[in-house]
Amino acid sequence: MSQQPDVVVVGGGPGGAAAAYWLARKGASVLVVEKKSYPREKTCGDGLTPRAVRQLIDMGYDFDVPELHRVTGLRAYAGELTIELPWPRHTIYPDWGVVIRRADLDMHVARLAEKQGAVIRERTEAAPVLDAGGRLRGVSLRSADADVEEVEVLSPKVVVIADGSLSRFGRAMGAVRRRDYPFGLAVRGYHASRNSTDPMLESQLNIFDSEGRALPGYGWIFPLGDGTINIGAGVISSFKGWKDVNTSKVLDAYIAGLPAYWGVDGSSEITKPIGGKLPMSFSVAPKVGRNWLAVGDAVGAVNPFNGEGIDYAYETGRMAADVITEAIGADDLTRLTRYRDALEDEYGDYHRVARAFVIAVGNPRVMRTLTRTGLRSRPLMEWVLKVMANLLEPEDYGMAERVFHAIEKIVKVGPEPLLRA
Ligand SMILES: Cc1cc2nc3c(=O)[nH]c(=O)nc-3n(C[C@H](O)[C@H](O)[C@H](O)COP(=O)(O)OP(=O)(O)OC[C@H]3O[C@@H](n4cnc5c(N)ncnc54)[C@H](O)[C@@H]3O)c2cc1C
Repeated sequence: MSQQPDVVVVGGGPGGAAAAYWLARKGASVLVVEKKSYPREKTCGDGLTPRAVRQLIDMGYDFDVPELHRVTGLRAYAGELTIELPWPRHTIYPDWGVVIRRADLDMHVARLAEKQGAVIRERTEAAPVLDAGGRLRGVSLRSADADVEEVEVLSPKVVVIADGSLSRFGRAMGAVRRRDYPFGLAVRGYHASRNSTDPMLESQLNIFDSEGRALPGYGWIFPLGDGTINIGAGVISSFKGWKDVNTSKVLDAYIAGLPAYWGVDGSSEITKPIGGKLPMSFSVAPKVGRNWLAVGDAVGAVNPFNGEGIDYAYETGRMAADVITEAIGADDLTRLTRYRDALEDEYGDYHRVARAFVIAVGNPRVMRTLTRTGLRSRPLMEWVLKVMANLLEPEDYGMAERVFHAIEKIVKVGPEPLLRA
């Protein structure tokens, strides 16, 4: 690579690695700057639905690695009601998902980007270099291994901001999160379990705070197939007092009530729970600037329906790579704004529905009614799984309206409409 790469990617998680993979594959010179070194931990449920698997297949991922566990669907329960739902058959997405620790997964995908020709510099932190008008002029790199306080400055044509949920780089570029959009808080830990080869993701739809209040969110067990399981719980910000919820206590209460087949008790804990934030529904803007774009959590790409962000980090990284390649090829960086349009085309309708949905389930009565009604009806739940995991067929045009009306039908919303467009 020449001294000045075409593109510098800040962050080597799913968003950054996918952007780098697709950029390098299309012939751009790419440098990924990752402040940690692989294999690096990321607080996560480690669960990948068919949408994420599709992206991994497209990047030539090797699924025959021992640390990966395949899952055939989702088991959902609330109280005495349980339902097992296989992943739907779909023309684009496979009918299986995987569970794999992020330390392994993210290293594998970064190596795929390297194989395409991307250069990855680990243990190196990137910061923006701005001109007097606050515009991005370059990227400064500081290696954790440098003997002296050495800072290198690069001036690529384009910067991809992929530094995750707190996105310091993005904030320095003026990006802010909309407070009226959903936001998630989640916590997870690892336990030993005799049932770690369970072929399904499992999720409990009724979780409670320490006062026994029902919360919008869910508890999960994602089995890793190696004698361990990832246990976590997450809530969404659409109810009063969400900031005061202690997610660790929510997790404790969930663990205390787990079905016996997991064999989880006081001695099964392997790691203490760690929490993290999930910026959702593309709540962060601006998403693109004169010579930069943001992807993954840095742009708030997490799906509010289910808290998934790995697949959307891969997808937005790929979309960014397409737009950048075109803009660089045409020597016209004004074309980078097409990224914003591409995001709206791909996700706009879906997220409008998702936002309405999370407002609705912020009302405990609605959450209770939906859970009870849903778990009694297999056809309804199959459909709900398709919507929540974003596995609808492309011709499911007008899905937004249909979801809207179905929720209104299931829940007698009373005189105040719960769902505002
Ligand atoms: C508790 C919890 C559970 C979750 N469970 C799931 C799940 O089961 N399935 C799912 O799909 N999603 C899940 N998510 C969401 C998912 O983890 C994120 O959406 C996903 O990691 C986003 O990828 P990313 O590449 O945008 O960011 P990240 O994965 O956060 O990667 C950002 C990278 O940038 C690096 N970095 C940051 N700043 C700099 C800098 N200045 N210079 C260089 N490098 C930098 C970081 O070290 C990091 O490697 C969960 C999130 C949480 C908090």
